[in-house]
Amino acid sequence: MALDLKKAFVPPPYKIKAIEPLYTLSHAERERAIQSAHYNTFLLPSSDVYMDLLTDSGTAAMSDYQWAGLMMGDEAYAGSLNFDHLEEAVRDVFGYRYIVPTHQGRGAEHILSKILIHSGDVIPGNMYFTTTKLHQELAGGTFSDVIIDEAHDSLSDHPFKGNVDLKKCEALVQKYTTQKIPYINLQACVNMAGGQPFSLENLKALREFSNRYQIKIILDATRVVENAHFIKVREKGYEAWPIVSIVREICSLTDGCFMSAKKDALVNIGGFLAMNDEYFFTEAKALVVIFEGLHTYGGLAGRDLEAMARGLYEATCDDRFVAHRIQQVEEFGKKLMQRDIPIVKPIGGHAVFIDAKRFLPHLSQDLFPAQALAAEIYVESGIRSMERGVVSSGRDKITGENIYPKLELVRLTIPRRVYTQEHFEYATQAIHEVYLRRNAIKGLQMTFEPKQLRFFQAHFQPIS
Ligand SMILES: *Cc1c(COP(=O)(O)O)cnc(C)c1O
Repeated sequence: MALDLKKAFVPPPYKIKAIEPLYTLSHAERERAIQSAHYNTFLLPSSDVYMDLLTDSGTAAMSDYQWAGLMMGDEAYAGSLNFDHLEEAVRDVFGYRYIVPTHQGRGAEHILSKILIHSGDVIPGNMYFTTTKLHQELAGGTFSDVIIDEAHDSLSDHPFKGNVDLKKCEALVQKYTTQKIPYINLQACVNMAGGQPFSLENLKALREFSNRYQIKIILDATRVVENAHFIKVREKGYEAWPIVSIVREICSLTDGCFMSAKKDALVNIGGFLAMNDEYFFTEAKALVVIFEGLHTYGGLAGRDLEAMARGLYEATCDDRFVAHRIQQVEEFGKKLMQRDIPIVKPIGGHAVFIDAKRFLPHLSQDLFPAQALAAEIYVESGIRSMERGVVSSGRDKITGENIYPKLELVRLTIPRRVYTQEHFEYATQAIHEVYLRRNAIKGLQMTFEPKQLRFFQAHFQPIS
């Protein structure tokens, strides 16, 4: 169904059929819970959480049509019918010729990096993503940030903070030569910048650049539907385009994509690689059998492939889905702003990001302010959020020093089709309570640090 953008308010294009009860611990129980979790919200059992805003990954509510699809799983080892459905959906919606399913996004990143990256290569990207960057490094490459400067400024309200700075790309070509740059990694609705989109104007310019130098563009399509919505409402000329046409236009300007289907494809598990190049496809099929499973299931059950195929259509064929979703995120952000809570602007597609540097100006970045704030919000309310700051950034590969990013954020991530306005009202009030007593919030020190992706499992304790 087409969306009338002149109508200001988009009501939910669904109603609730099944509910899942939520429990609430007492304040004292939550204090004990966060201590046992070493002040890392990733280590909390979900039964101790009231409202889970940790991530939008794999947390969507599936539709009755998707659930019905689970019963239609063809669990044959080879040539499952559900693979055909997924292939058809990816061809219809994205337009790529070939698809290789993987168990989730990082499975696709692993295979992609192994095929395209050689030791010493440099991979430009519009800001890093944790698992993407790690797979690039494991393949012998180095990530290089080419996002526009505005993306690193939490106060800039540039409408397309996910844009690529072509001057930065040009400088990389001059410094390393095209031989050392296998592809440009273009992320839709840049996660670490706060869910910020790129524009089609920018992508078209990037395509010209990449044609000139014969460098591929690989799309991280994880949030391409949300990116398409922002193009529809913010970029001149696309107001009347259906979301699915904008998604196809984006994909047509790239050479292939990888996707964590746990986000915009509305499933709890799944991912894939897609491309037009036959050689790339053949290589991906050869690797997927080693690391994931046969090329027609990629580590998933037939039923998962079916839910993914149906989810891809649902997310793109009724424009109200993504319009309502982004409106829900935006309304939550506005509620927080009305209470003076410092957040990243413009409000992104999948999450509201609290600026921990401005929320807790008395804490220096080596005291992990965003980590401390996420723990505090949990104790106040039972709401689980996560850190996106110095802990997530990790250490410099060469010097071993902590990387201190400009953005020190707490991410309140909104699962798709899960929570109602009342939940967000509760969250707003709770975060406001924390804000009122912000000066008493103490920093943390790290007491255990995993070597890779430390934010998932690190331990902390309050400084005395
Ligand atoms: C989640 C995510 C990934 C990795 O996907 P998983 O399904 O979590 O393995 C890659 N890129 C982006 C932008 C993501 O948000």
